[in-house]
Amino acid sequence: MGRGTAGSLAAASVTRLHPDSDHELHHIFDSRIPVIGVGEGSWPSLVQELRQLTNLPHETVQRRLNGTRKYGVAFEGWGRRNRDFVHYFTPQQVSYAYHLSADTLTELLHDSARARHIDAKVVDITKVEGGAQVEFEGRASERYDLVFDARGFPAEIHPDRHIDISFIPTNTAVIRRCPSIVKEKRNGPVLQHTYTRAVARPHGWIFIIPLTVHTSYGYIFNRDVTSLTDVESDFDAFLETDGVSEFEQRSVIPFPNYVHRQIYDGAVARIGNAAAFMEPLEATAIVSAQFQIGMVLQMRLNRSAENHERDAPVVNRFLVNNTLRYGLFVGWHYCCGSTYDSEFWRHARDDAWPRYRTASDPAVVDCDALRRFDEMIELTNRTVIDQSDWNRMCAVPLTSYCQVSQGLGC
Ligand SMILES: Cc1cc2nc3c(=O)[nH]c(=O)nc-3n(C[C@H](O)[C@H](O)[C@H](O)COP(=O)(O)OP(=O)(O)OC[C@H]3O[C@@H](n4cnc5c(N)ncnc54)[C@H](O)[C@@H]3O)c2cc1C
Repeated sequence: MGRGTAGSLAAASVTRLHPDSDHELHHIFDSRIPVIGVGEGSWPSLVQELRQLTNLPHETVQRRLNGTRKYGVAFEGWGRRNRDFVHYFTPQQVSYAYHLSADTLTELLHDSARARHIDAKVVDITKVEGGAQVEFEGRASERYDLVFDARGFPAEIHPDRHIDISFIPTNTAVIRRCPSIVKEKRNGPVLQHTYTRAVARPHGWIFIIPLTVHTSYGYIFNRDVTSLTDVESDFDAFLETDGVSEFEQRSVIPFPNYVHRQIYDGAVARIGNAAAFMEPLEATAIVSAQFQIGMVLQMRLNRSAENHERDAPVVNRFLVNNTLRYGLFVGWHYCCGSTYDSEFWRHARDDAWPRYRTASDPAVVDCDALRRFDEMIELTNRTVIDQSDWNRMCAVPLTSYCQVSQGLGC
């Protein structure tokens, strides 16, 4: 359910991974409800995954995405060192992801899915014996063995159903589109190394994502701390100093920071923004959706049916745990503030981030994300890191923690 990035990724993944050609796949979406349509940064695993899902060469995939090669995130003005730094993917200067146009990604994935399309509004999903019953507006209900629910943000955040991760201090984005700064090549993809820029500003930070057709700018801030008018005026000032004279105003997007407590119940798997959301500082949404879909499909296709019910809580805890670890990694970027001693940065560093321990208390979240995160921070503080620890991960590899820790000065 859902024709945004997450639902389209699920449809293409079921098409590729389901060994039984006898199954029927319905791709359900309500064409009156728009997709969010942003999401232009990714992680390197998407490069391999798109190659496998589409059966197209990397070069063709990149061109179809209007894409550039992202080698990491370039941070400007973050932390206490007054020093810019890059968070590279590992191995540095070898591993790359895509900067991509979100609409071309969904088109590419649709071409790779074999599904019956149903344009209807889903009004209810109920777990029933061996599957889920789906009720539609204006058409007969259907029963499915497995549902991927990718219907986007929940209508409201409720503590019984969602883990509030507002230790991440932002909740709104202003999106603008500016002329491209990367030259498209006539024969072949752009090979130039590019980086998502993440520039600290008095009221939050700005992302700059270079695509071959345009450059995407987004100002991420907290609407409870700063007014939209103040953000727009600082955005204008930044574009002027960045040498950008024209832009198209795209949208203002409010967002929650949360993780759903029940991502998978054995019949329904929430994926994408329906499963969790956090601001795009480290582009963790598409990679999380890949992980959710991959994990659920691997369990469903490789374990016998009698295990499905027993597996469900284990898979759920695993997915909640991994997503919360991403949340801790992202929120941690604010722990040392920035070059700005402004209301936003004081709020981020002194009020919001210190709440991370209460928010991810194992007794409240039923997983050990906090302990794993603490272990990574402890490793980054060591004078010597033992070789046996080099491959440790807490959602992202130790190399990411070390680069960010060095860069921020914490
Ligand atoms: C400012 C910003 C920047 C971002 N940048 C990045 C980034 O760089 N990298 C990254 O990985 N992610 C990024 N994201 C996250 C991005 O939003 C997600 O990766 C992606 O868009 C996933 O959306 P989705 O498919 O879950 O939901 P949506 O795009 O919201 O799609 C929801 C779908 O569900 C359908 N639907 C909804 N309700 C119903 C219903 N009742 N019945 C039937 N159909 C229904 C709609 O028609 C739609 O097709 C960013 C997000 C924001 C806000």
